[in-house]
Amino acid sequence: MAYVIAEPCIDSMDQSCVAVCPVDCISSEQGQDRKFFIDPNNCIDCGSCEQACPNQAIFRAEALPTEWAGFAWVDATWYVDPGQARDAIDAYMPTQAA
Ligand code: SF4
Ligand code: SF4
Repeated sequence: MAYVIAEPCIDSMDQSCVAVCPVDCISSEQGQDRKFFIDPNNCIDCGSCEQACPNQAIFRAEALPTEWAGFAWVDATWYVDPGQARDAIDAYMPTQAA
């Protein structure tokens, strides 16, 4: 199991979690992504990021609130096919019209 970043990270990416992760498994591409993503294959379940996030966006996968269960798929998918993960986020929460 790994930790997962859910909805509260979208469009509020302060990166507190990235700073504390001991294995550098939290990533995002600047200018392309609206949230950060945890690599489920490298996360060591230390819990540091959960404590650091000011938005309570991070959960153990098995503790994800039901309404955010799909974010486990989003985080894992980003490491295989970032475009598919981005499309899912935009479908879930469309960007505000300029
Ligand atoms: S639980 Fe630990 S290893 Fe996993 S993403 Fe968070 S800080 Fe990194
Ligand atoms: S600390 Fe929380 S809101 Fe900030 S980038 Fe990490 S998961 Fe997103």
